Amino acid sequence: MDFAFPPSARASLPIAGTDARFPVRRIYCVGKNYADHVAEMGGDVERSEPIFFTKAAETLVQDGTDIPFPPNTENLHYEVELVVAMGPPEINGGIFAYGVGIDMTRRDIQAKAKAKGGPWDRAKSFHLSAPCSALTIANTVDLSAAHITLRKNGDTVQHSALNKLIWSVDEIIAYLSQDMDLQPGDLIYTGTPAGVGPVIVDDELSGEIEGLERVTVRFV
Ligand code: MN
Repeated sequence: MDFAFPPSARASLPIAGTDARFPVRRIYCVGKNYADHVAEMGGDVERSEPIFFTKAAETLVQDGTDIPFPPNTENLHYEVELVVAMGPPEINGGIFAYGVGIDMTRRDIQAKAKAKGGPWDRAKSFHLSAPCSALTIANTVDLSAAHITLRKNGDTVQHSALNKLIWSVDEIIAYLSQDMDLQPGDLIYTGTPAGVGPVIVDDELSGEIEGLERVTVRFV
């Protein structure tokens, strides 16, 4: 292949316990997948169904990164989420690894988009909007009883259990497989529990799921 100029590097994530990196293709995100978060956003829990959107792979941020505060927002929110990393179907049924992600959201831009029925890209898929931990090989960890926690400057601001997902990991994968083009290298941010809130410059976020690597980032 002869490119007119050098292509940008493929996004990737470290994998705990190995020097090999996970090559990232697409990032799918699930919205409205914990009842308590649907309620805090003013939704109807009884009638709510999960929704899907995407972030560009190039928006990924690795653990330990100082993130320049993004432009054009006065309400930058955190959403801690279990991340599923898809691999070849012959390995562990296609679930290659898990991580902890933070779906950073320009909530003020999202609110305007919702009001106008417009797209969410500027609210969700902006530069450096997808922090994610190093990945943990899926068949080395049991997440069935695991809790998910986000700390802001050391204080717990989000805390829930993964078994409270409205759509389970298997259901999300089944849906994306028939609706979209789910492939090895794809990441799925599976949705956030209640407690989303803002960050400002100098805030540090640390996301944790028992058994997985942590993701810690700071806004500068
Ligand atoms: Mn989210």
